[in-house]
Amino acid sequence: MRSQIQKKNFEEDLTNARIAAQNVLEDLDIEKTKVEKERAKEVAILLSIGDGLVVTDENGNIMLINKVAEKLLGRKKEEVMGKVFSDAILGIEDKEGKVISLEKRPMNLALTAGTATVNSIYYYVRKNKTRFPVAITVTPIVFEGKVIGAVEVFRDITHEREIDEEKSEFISLASHQLKTPPTAVKLLTERLLSGKMGTLTEKQKEYLNDIRFSNQRMIDLTNALLNVSRIELGAFTIQVQKKNACAIVQSVLDELEPITKGEQPKLKTIFPEQNIMLMLDEPLFRMIITNLVTNAIHYTASEGEIVVECKTINKGETVGGKLLKENYFVVVISDTGYGIPQVQQNKVFTKFFRADNAREKHVNGTGLGLYIAKSIMDHSGGLIWFMSRENKGSVFYAAIPMTGMRTKVGT
Ligand code: ADP
Repeated sequence: MRSQIQKKNFEEDLTNARIAAQNVLEDLDIEKTKVEKERAKEVAILLSIGDGLVVTDENGNIMLINKVAEKLLGRKKEEVMGKVFSDAILGIEDKEGKVISLEKRPMNLALTAGTATVNSIYYYVRKNKTRFPVAITVTPIVFEGKVIGAVEVFRDITHEREIDEEKSEFISLASHQLKTPPTAVKLLTERLLSGKMGTLTEKQKEYLNDIRFSNQRMIDLTNALLNVSRIELGAFTIQVQKKNACAIVQSVLDELEPITKGEQPKLKTIFPEQNIMLMLDEPLFRMIITNLVTNAIHYTASEGEIVVECKTINKGETVGGKLLKENYFVVVISDTGYGIPQVQQNKVFTKFFRADNAREKHVNGTGLGLYIAKSIMDHSGGLIWFMSRENKGSVFYAAIPMTGMRTKVGT
């Protein structure tokens, strides 16, 4: 009797366990279908992106590629699936056609260092060896602190480049044309002011000086626009010659003396005793130093102080918060001026940027000087950076490698 009851209980338990197991399996099935549906949805979303899209695993093997990517790279999905992305797309080059080394490629940076990249400086080479400028965004896929793959979205920016070039060509042509009239105005105003054309009343002199000043602004602005368009068209050259770097800095200061005299901040210099001879493009180097010193003057109150220092810094030393990876000649321009607001500091080297406090204190300015200086440094292997605190002052650093500026031929 007892064993019959035991047997019944056992059978009931068994049935319950079976039902429970079935329920779990059904739940699992439902969950699995849900996950699969979600995955199908995600894959469909990814594949339907209007830009080229490639997803790789942690070794860079292609796991997913959409139609746009296939078309842009001139490759078939079947050809590239499971292959290493960098090999499958054949090549990444810079503007001049130099192959970008593996460790610098955006996808590799994502997989090895977990670095996300957004840039538009490279060209992708298609299977048929034609190439196109590409805007790349690569994001590493991180799971439990480990990089398990990467997603790359890219697009052909040939058309944007063409529009940009047309715009720069237009600015270049327009600035050339715009330069002629103010140059004539400058000559004529100076002739009148010299008194050779007859004596002028004080009022006439005052008006002519105002004309000269405004006209000079027009000349400065057209020159700046011309420089920007040359930079953007790649049309400027860097030609170097062995020069005495500190002597050039001193001659810039001498040239600026008329504006550093009188109601202006005091200017101090700290130069080394021995000459520092460097391979420099003198006009470009002068342009950078002139801009940094005039900025210090414009953005410092008359009771403030500016210090211009020239020195060499050895590889491995830190200056202005930057660790230098080779030997450099550095010009340090410090001021006790208005400084740059913290929130705007990341925009300082962008085109047409003028900080809010600068607009108030010095209304005339183009916001182009530092953009030009940075572009020259980027092209010549130099560095430019700064440290600044609002209402305390700024320190700008311009560094040229002791090996000299890199040369560049105009395109
Ligand atoms: P501009 O001086 O013609 O406005 P720049 O490109 O030379 O153009 O400088 C961009 C902006 O950076 C300036 O408008 C100013 O806001 C800020 N800036 C540059 N140098 C200094 C400085 N020494 N002190 C404070 N602000 C500065």
